[in-house]
Amino acid sequence: MIPAERSQDLKVGTVLYGLEPRGLGGPARESLRGYLVRLAAEHALRPRDLVARVLVQLEPSISPWAYASFFARHALTIDGIGVYAETFARALGGGTGRRDLASLSMLPWASLLPPNGKSLLARRPRWCPECLRAGWATPDGAHWQLRWSLAAVSHCSDHGIPLHDRCGHCGRLQPALPRHPTIGYCDHCLSPLFDLTSTNSQEQVRPTPGGLETEQLIDELVAIQDGLARDPKESWLSFIDEAVASLGKGQRAALCRRMGFQPRAFNAWLQRQDRVSIGAIVRVCSALGCGARRVFGEEPRHLSSLVPQQRAGARRVRHDENVRSLSARLLHQAVSQNAPPSLRDVASAAGVSRGYLRYWFDDQVAALTGARRRRVEHLRQARTAQRLELLRVLVTDVVASEQFPGRKLIESAARRHGFSLLDEGMLEIYRRIVADLLQAGRSLEEDTSNETR
Ligand SMILES: [Zn+2]
Ligand SMILES: [Zn+2]
Repeated sequence: MIPAERSQDLKVGTVLYGLEPRGLGGPARESLRGYLVRLAAEHALRPRDLVARVLVQLEPSISPWAYASFFARHALTIDGIGVYAETFARALGGGTGRRDLASLSMLPWASLLPPNGKSLLARRPRWCPECLRAGWATPDGAHWQLRWSLAAVSHCSDHGIPLHDRCGHCGRLQPALPRHPTIGYCDHCLSPLFDLTSTNSQEQVRPTPGGLETEQLIDELVAIQDGLARDPKESWLSFIDEAVASLGKGQRAALCRRMGFQPRAFNAWLQRQDRVSIGAIVRVCSALGCGARRVFGEEPRHLSSLVPQQRAGARRVRHDENVRSLSARLLHQAVSQNAPPSLRDVASAAGVSRGYLRYWFDDQVAALTGARRRRVEHLRQARTAQRLELLRVLVTDVVASEQFPGRKLIESAARRHGFSLLDEGMLEIYRRIVADLLQAGRSLEEDTSNETR
């Protein structure tokens, strides 16, 4: 049955609702993967069932992909520029009758970006918890954003915080295509992915050179990608042509050097028509001070000279009073949080360096570091206790099923629960549990043999 308020979305002759994609024309554009999940929810289906039962009917070439590790990992490519993106855009477009779904992936840039866009997409789903929270504060709920799928994006430009990749409650990574059709909730423990905690792996956070410049440029790329007047490769080549013509030879070489390219890099694009990585696009655009709208859109370019050089370290940021009071406020909030964010996160949210915070707010920084250390220690102890308990249950279960709780058997059971006997301290605990059990078994045997005597 189609609910009355949805019936207008169902175009005559389509199998699926013509659900409106979110965030078209803006940087928070919905991703094709996220759209698939919302569409599944509209049909009261699990996303994987929508693929395995409905989309395979529309696009039989999908059927070999309807298996677990595709859903868990490879389905990330649905947001990319390759055959998976093409096929899913076609199947979903056919099913919903919508023609704009390719623009929820990176397909509009397919002629420009390298074909096996390995470095294009992040290797795991990531999200901005604040964007998800803001989405869930509206009646429509949250949507999954395309920019989160791009490897070059490490921070949310709206909130200035690093993207997260682990559930703040159970600490697990999320599958590419979830089992549950709810955007913004952990697919393992069903808790909100917008709860901020410190369990998010800081090592995943790549410091962004030049602040959020990369993110802002990519925001613009993503925003304009459904209204490209020209083939992006043509636009790029004419842009490079213009840059070569307008910059003097000395400037051109300086530009290439500054971007870390060899001096004749521009010629490779112009003469060999090499594909261009998204990182190279960002570097050229920022060196020429030219946003995506000027490169790929209709805005005039007016390339005259290089943007003044900003060498890392030599970069002068004017810290006026606003910056200082913002920093103080963010630090204060950070220290009082149950799960305090890292100094790097606070610095990035305030738009300053960690050194700046240490210089001006020495005491608060020390308080934050202390609070984080205590929190990490607390989490570590809690996790060890939890695993110890789980390990005891695993070993007892194996013994109860009259098997010997050998290391191999227990290791594979532990891995199913997301840990390993090789984790710090676990092996010793395992040996102790087994020894205790064997000891208990032996005394039980002795008791019984005493009784029978
Ligand atoms: Zn955000
Ligand atoms: Zn979870």
